[in-house]
Amino acid sequence: MSYIKDNLRRVQGIIAESAADIGREPAGITLLAVTKTFPHELVNEALNCGITAIGENRVQEAAGKFPFLTGRPEKHLIGPLQTNKVNKALTLFDWIQSLDNVKLAKKLDQAAGKLGRGVNVLVEVKLEDEPNKHGLDRHKLRPFLEETASLGNLKIQGLMAIPPFKSNPEEVRPYFKQLRKLFETVPGWDLPNVRMRYLSMGMSHDFGVAIQEGSNMIRIGSALFGERRIR
Ligand SMILES: *Cc1c(COP(=O)(O)O)cnc(C)c1O
Repeated sequence: MSYIKDNLRRVQGIIAESAADIGREPAGITLLAVTKTFPHELVNEALNCGITAIGENRVQEAAGKFPFLTGRPEKHLIGPLQTNKVNKALTLFDWIQSLDNVKLAKKLDQAAGKLGRGVNVLVEVKLEDEPNKHGLDRHKLRPFLEETASLGNLKIQGLMAIPPFKSNPEEVRPYFKQLRKLFETVPGWDLPNVRMRYLSMGMSHDFGVAIQEGSNMIRIGSALFGERRIR
């Protein structure tokens, strides 16, 4: 318990400092504990320390782990989702942060409709020069939103990105700025059902910079739980 508590305190300290840098309240920043590869015992410790939202990358891993959680955190899928796993994902997760194609959007809308509910999603954007396979090309964001805005069960609530890893987080700042700019541009397109509430950016090594650039949802794994041995 003790090291997670200490790590959480350290993370909260950086959140507070970085929020203060830009005159924002730390309470407005959601801390998502990224629990991939970590066993449910550690996740439960984090929940005991006050974590209220968690992120997992894989549907299969989440399915094995979630039944053993002692609390009821908000659950976010932050890894790529294949259309054949949509139904399963919807039974496990409250949020899908990795929406990056129209086919998946339609599938999510349909599946949520069958369950008689909506599904909260963030659109994962691929920023300039990003080597990642995943994420929607940022230049295609507008046509993508125009096409998916009418899907009634899809609740588009913001943007997510995974910028390239740079050992110096200052080098990630331009990517965060790009995403923030998009986030502020979308409301001007005036699309029905599309809201820009969450800007999900910042991981263990760069979340201070991400917050300074306007992130209100950070996804933190190793800074809370320690280094991952796999993946
Ligand atoms: C693993 C992962 C994180 C957390 O990474 P850390 O560097 O351990 O904080 C955040 N977001 C996504 C999408 C991830 O896959």
